[in-house]
Amino acid sequence: MKLTVLGKYGPYPAAGGACSGYLAEQDGTRVLVDCGSGVLSRLQQICNIQDLSGIVLSHLHSDHMADMLILRYALEIGKARGIINIESIPVYLPNAPADIYGLVTSSPVFRPVIIQDGLQADIGEISFTFREMSHPVQSFAMAVEHSGGKLVYTGDTNMNTRIGDFSKGADYLVADTGLLEKDKTDQAAHLTADEVGRIAADAGVKNLILSHIWPGYAEQDIINEAALHYSSPIMAEEMKTYIL
Ligand SMILES: [Zn+2]
Ligand SMILES: [Zn+2]
Repeated sequence: MKLTVLGKYGPYPAAGGACSGYLAEQDGTRVLVDCGSGVLSRLQQICNIQDLSGIVLSHLHSDHMADMLILRYALEIGKARGIINIESIPVYLPNAPADIYGLVTSSPVFRPVIIQDGLQADIGEISFTFREMSHPVQSFAMAVEHSGGKLVYTGDTNMNTRIGDFSKGADYLVADTGLLEKDKTDQAAHLTADEVGRIAADAGVKNLILSHIWPGYAEQDIINEAALHYSSPIMAEEMKTYIL
């Protein structure tokens, strides 16, 4: 399985960057995981929109779904003009907040499947298992697997007891590293680099990718904080492909 980072920033992109978006590929199956601003542009550097087997949205914050609203235009206009010949794309997403869910799913080009805790779903050759996290809106981590290869993506979350168990033995952990310890508050919506390093070490993951980067941070500070607990964490790199 291949994972390409289309966008690594949150909650807004750095100059020239994109918000959360990842493409998982295996034997002709292509699944877009999250679709923040800038992701549709990046996706088309790799494949055509109609080559997508499905879309998975970890949660409905704008930095993870904003480009769904223009992907909708691309599909609607493409179908009307005969350059896109698929009826619709399955979209796995939480059904809250209800207004955003309604906005995304109001077009027939998207075929919604509601994510709930524990849901397992096969999209082509790739299987997904979802675990609810803790974030200001309903948000899901996911295990993305194919024939023994396992990648866990945290989505957005703050520290909780579930993410460690869920990440156990993963080949790759792609983690929301939205904070440094110095900026953590009681209402923190994201994991700190320190927490991510501890989770990865305790879970015994083979590779840790730091993502959901706030453009205001120096990346080396994030790497150094995670490395207090986990040796050689990897800073996500946009348009880089990781092989499981
Ligand atoms: Zn986010
Ligand atoms: Zn979020």
